[in-house]
Amino acid sequence: MAAGIIDGKAIAQQVRAEVAEEVAAWVQAGNEKPGLATVLVGDDPASAVYVGGKQKASAEVGIEGFDHRLPADTSQDEIARLLGELNDDPRVSGILLQLPTPPQIDGGAMSELIRPEKDVDGLTPISAGLLAKGRPGLRPCTPAGVMELLRRHEVALEGAEAVVVGRSDLVGKPLSALLLAAHATVTICHSRTHDLAEVCRRADVLVAAVGRPRLVQGDWVKEDAVVIDVGINRTDEGLVGDVDFAPAAARARLITPVPGGVGPMTIAMLLRNTLLAARAQAGERA
Ligand code: NAP
Repeated sequence: MAAGIIDGKAIAQQVRAEVAEEVAAWVQAGNEKPGLATVLVGDDPASAVYVGGKQKASAEVGIEGFDHRLPADTSQDEIARLLGELNDDPRVSGILLQLPTPPQIDGGAMSELIRPEKDVDGLTPISAGLLAKGRPGLRPCTPAGVMELLRRHEVALEGAEAVVVGRSDLVGKPLSALLLAAHATVTICHSRTHDLAEVCRRADVLVAAVGRPRLVQGDWVKEDAVVIDVGINRTDEGLVGDVDFAPAAARARLITPVPGGVGPMTIAMLLRNTLLAARAQAGERA
């Protein structure tokens, strides 16, 4: 039987519509608009497109945008000063430093200057620590988007075997922590895993976050598994995921396509994080 398709584009649109409604109600109740500050250093065209997309999406849901674009030769001190100002600005609920930064800038170290309550990317060590400890905090957007896809499809995670291929700080590790918090039995695989195919075949929920086109073969997928493909690989045939879609879909119960699966969820969850950050900060000030 062919798998059901998890339509990330439609679900992301629903999340964005919900955030827009919640922002409107928040402002109606007398609160300031949530604000998202983006900081882009240099003129990398791809980064400019990403930042533009985030600002446009923010405006569409009623989030105030603070779009900081700095020349490629900006010093680390100047960036640190700007991040300090944004940390202290009550109009700014969330701050995002677009990576990668130019070579003279330590992007990771700069991101760590963002206060955890404004870390809407959820990637600083404090946010990662809060997640690892199961404490409240802002969660990384792509893993949070995967969890949202699973939730909307009512995928039962408690006691389920979840296998995550990939252990990056951006996707694999935080997603594994979120699945564990949802009471799945989680196995994390990586480039040194022995017999990856056999481990994947155990999965009720199989997530590929690797960056290798079609690494996960159809016969690695257990019958009726839920398959989430985080991979985005540019090939001669266009964008493809980390999963060999057609044979995997022939065995899976549910599967995400690439494009149109996990991809659109990231910005939707960034908007939600910005609203959550604004609420938490208002609570702290009250
Ligand atoms: P990454 O930092 O390069 O990490 C890749 C992970 O895959 C590493 O843990 C690596 O293992 C593992 N790996 C590599 N080759 C492998 C193999 N042959 N077998 C098993 N594991 C292998 O990548 P990332 O940032 O997590 O991104 C992964 C994919 O997701 C990329 O295609 C990226 O474009 C996509 N992505 C999509 C979104 C979105 O949809 N919005 C967001 C972020 C990323 P080691 O740790 O052992 O090296």
